Amino acid sequence: MARKLLLTHIDVPGIQTFEVYRQKGGYRAVEKALKTLTPDDVVEEVKKSGLRGRGGAGFPTGMKWSFLAKPEGVPRYLVCNADESEPGTFKDRFLMTHIPHALIEGMIVSSYALGANTSYIYVRGEMMPQIRILERAIAEAKNAGFLGKNILGSGYDLELYVQPGGGAYICGEETALLESLEGKRGNPRIKPPFPAVSGLYNCPTVVNNVESIAATVPIINDGGEEYAKIGIERSTGTKLISAGGNINKPGVYEIELGLPVEEFIYSDEYCGGIAGGKRLKAVVAGGSSVPILPANLILKTLKGDSRLMTYESLADGGFQSGTMLGSGGFIVFDEDQCIVRNTWNFTRFYHHESCGQCSPCREGTGWMEKVLHKIEHGHGAFSDIDLLVDVSKKIEGNTICPLGDAAAWPVASAIRHFRDEFEWHVTHGQEAQTRNYGLAHYADPLEPVA
Ligand code: SF4
Repeated sequence: MARKLLLTHIDVPGIQTFEVYRQKGGYRAVEKALKTLTPDDVVEEVKKSGLRGRGGAGFPTGMKWSFLAKPEGVPRYLVCNADESEPGTFKDRFLMTHIPHALIEGMIVSSYALGANTSYIYVRGEMMPQIRILERAIAEAKNAGFLGKNILGSGYDLELYVQPGGGAYICGEETALLESLEGKRGNPRIKPPFPAVSGLYNCPTVVNNVESIAATVPIINDGGEEYAKIGIERSTGTKLISAGGNINKPGVYEIELGLPVEEFIYSDEYCGGIAGGKRLKAVVAGGSSVPILPANLILKTLKGDSRLMTYESLADGGFQSGTMLGSGGFIVFDEDQCIVRNTWNFTRFYHHESCGQCSPCREGTGWMEKVLHKIEHGHGAFSDIDLLVDVSKKIEGNTICPLGDAAAWPVASAIRHFRDEFEWHVTHGQEAQTRNYGLAHYADPLEPVA
């Protein structure tokens, strides 16, 4: 069995409660940090751990913390981004539902490191059960003296609040989240200034993902160097992956970074293989925003090496033949899936969620959706495929926030790897909606998995 750091006690009855969480060693990291470490020590441990942001960008967490401005007399804030809404991604919701105290404990440790005395967990508005679970967990922690004034007699004060979000995908972008948290419409801000300098209420702010914050607990318990021994290269530690699509065992898995992709898909410990014994056609490895890869490229790199579940290995080959670990939303497509239909579906989502501030995103996502609808429904022309490529290029890199890229990459990569399916839709018209495509793209496992 693979080593677990976040889901170690997931099967323990009552682990959602403070009492059981504490019995299983919970809140030791808070005790260690507040009683034996300075805030700078905590930052140093997180730096040593090599932890990278688990929300999608993969930026080193310790380095992000060290950018936080510390002007005299100005409050600093830690905001947890629990606005998880990337299609295919549900690992933060899982963590908050089943082990809420892991996040609360991480929030205390991280807030202490950053010198924040007021912190927020911004939760997607639709997640009412998780909001209630977190509020209950905060009340329990406060009753036990782990929140509020003079925590554990250390002199450190922290108030922690849960803020329901507005229910828009764009509020997961950190500056849009801060706007929303301030009570405004969730429009992304132009950067710079970055939140580390001017964030919530124009004060220095760190925005971290749920899983990143929870990961600081084992880092402080065991030390950053121990954490860094797990994983490989610059992908250290464990990662929660939410696996879905055409697999036998959809769910949330904690993997050690460095696991071969093939093992993740086919081993019974994880996805358990392709449902119905079908063949693998493609994978979206890190939430719907990342480039889709066909079976041969998700299992092996262009050089023929096994593709690994790491930031580096998944990105090997760049956007021509690689992808991204992203948010860890791992969507598997079997041989019967229509890439055109799925690409249209993703694009509808991004068009709907565009905040409309910048023209390339607002207009481009709308045009891509229209053209994809036309092709999918059998009315497309060959020139429409090139038009899609052209529009996606005009969006990429030309927008205020990453939603533009997130909308462009799935379309560009789908055409790059599955152009014949788009052409097949053009030549076969309406018949294309009822047929099984992509027979050239599937792959059986390249090697048996032990
Ligand atoms: Fe809004 Fe899209 Fe521009 Fe982001 S890229 S600011 S979502 S219009």
